Amino acid sequence: MNATQPDAIRYRIQPTNPGAHRFTVSCSVPDPDPEGQRFSLPAWIPGSYTIRDFARHVVAVSARCGEQALAVEKLDKDTWRCEPCQGALTLTLEVHAWELSVRTAHLDTTHAYFNGAAVFPRVHGHEQRPCVVDLQLPVGEASRRWRVATSMRRLAAPLDGPGTYCCDDYDELIDHPVEMGHFAHARFEACGVPHDVVVSGRHKADMERLCRDLKRLCEWQIRFFGEPAPMERYVFLVQAVGEGYGGLEHRASTSLMCSRDDLPRAGADEITEGYRTFLGLCSHEYFHSWNVKRIKPAAFAPYDLARENHTRLLWAFEGITAYYDDLALLRCGLIDLDTWLQLLGETATRVWRGPGRLRQSLADSSFDAWTKFYKPDANTPNAVVSYYTKGALVALALDLLLRRLSGGERSLDDLMRALWGRHGKPGIPVPEDGIERLAAEIAGADLSDFFARYVHGTEDPPLAELLEGIGIEFVLRPAEGAADKGGKPAKAGTRARADLGLRARAANGGLEVETVFDGGAAQAAGLAAGDVLLALDELKIDPRGFERQLAAYRPGDRVTLHAFRRDELMRFEVLLASAPADTAFLRLRDDAGEAALRARGAWSGVTST
Ligand code: ZN
Repeated sequence: MNATQPDAIRYRIQPTNPGAHRFTVSCSVPDPDPEGQRFSLPAWIPGSYTIRDFARHVVAVSARCGEQALAVEKLDKDTWRCEPCQGALTLTLEVHAWELSVRTAHLDTTHAYFNGAAVFPRVHGHEQRPCVVDLQLPVGEASRRWRVATSMRRLAAPLDGPGTYCCDDYDELIDHPVEMGHFAHARFEACGVPHDVVVSGRHKADMERLCRDLKRLCEWQIRFFGEPAPMERYVFLVQAVGEGYGGLEHRASTSLMCSRDDLPRAGADEITEGYRTFLGLCSHEYFHSWNVKRIKPAAFAPYDLARENHTRLLWAFEGITAYYDDLALLRCGLIDLDTWLQLLGETATRVWRGPGRLRQSLADSSFDAWTKFYKPDANTPNAVVSYYTKGALVALALDLLLRRLSGGERSLDDLMRALWGRHGKPGIPVPEDGIERLAAEIAGADLSDFFARYVHGTEDPPLAELLEGIGIEFVLRPAEGAADKGGKPAKAGTRARADLGLRARAANGGLEVETVFDGGAAQAAGLAAGDVLLALDELKIDPRGFERQLAAYRPGDRVTLHAFRRDELMRFEVLLASAPADTAFLRLRDDAGEAALRARGAWSGVTST
């Protein structure tokens, strides 16, 4: 493509008023629809499966054809139609950008960040046309030295600078988030591919160490799927904040948000819990470069950006990715097996603590992600299972099952490589039954029972039995308290704990109930989400010390709770239950036989334990 390409759609974006958080975006079409050109902003951003209605942040719209101003009519929540005209048409939007997340757009006097879906209008009927994009800095001395970071290809722009960039089509245009401002920047190569690490926000990250660790991780993943890497260049766009966490995958970059304390500091060389979490996030989004960005469900090929795109396969695109994110850290040597076992125990604990896993299947959770998983409320733990966490456990179960059925010859790794070879690389979308069929082919066995139970049904994956085969014991025990995340054995001597069957937090002058778990003591007594607990057996509840107060009781005891429901004082008689065995941990078996040890070594890539 060249800058003078006559049929390209030309976009221009500039933070014209950083103080007011306003971008000015224009879009020029050389040959608009003679009936009146339509433009839309997406209702959602690929990778984040909920309706966001980006058009609601548009504060002004205008259009012109040469010197002539054109009338613009709004047709629905996110579509505009311009008056018919002869010759090139330019639509101009003013977009308010004040949401700091990896899925939206954010602008102030310190930096600009945007996703294309939030700012660039789609030109109806011209989605396949190449795009030339002019990325401009704000006017003024304060931003004169700002730099630009994006994985978009440069057409006529200096490295890291403003100017023109280009994309093959609209789908690509909205798949390269852009950061402008002052940021730390470092570069490394992984299997010959340049990778940029860009960290904005206030931080003291050891960029050299970040590059060293990410190189190890990225090379492992590229070699896992097979060289060459599917991208020519890759950018980690990191926003460091006080508190925040999130990531979104793109074809040649990822946007990440993390706590600045999670980034490694100069001089330290241990992997803190925060840094391990950050590396896990990087690993997750990088794995998506294959699994979902290129190995795609048919429902996303192409994306319908105007409405929900339903697929029953998010468990595979998110759950399998969630399984490999930490496993990649283990296999490339950034964490050890004990740490991995702890992380798996924490994931299993999150799954077992949600009664919703017994109501909703992974396939249904995938399908309804838009209105359920992404719109959590007080009842979500009772009604919804996470396709990330349970999806990761089912991925582990499938991996171990494939290994067992093939006598160690085949595994989930082969399934992923087959998905890449047959779907990702040639660009053939995965049909809704594609994962199951391919898994059965790799197993050389009928797996319909496995998928019926654990993917389309609501059974817990048989982890205890499958892990046994690699000499690992899977144990469920009661939680020791609200702070117990699982992943570790209970402290010795912990006695049976009385349980209310609810989750609460200090708020509104008492202990506010967030969720009442299905089948628990609180539900049987009539307590509800939103109730503010005030007294236990007529003694004032200390919102921060309630666990200690409750620890004086045993399962089977009857207690009285006073609570406000709205402004009405209520009294509840509660029969305390035993804390359920919903907290998982794993341990290596001392008595594992030779075959189990061999299988464990093959699976983990770690042979010394
Ligand atoms: Zn993901």
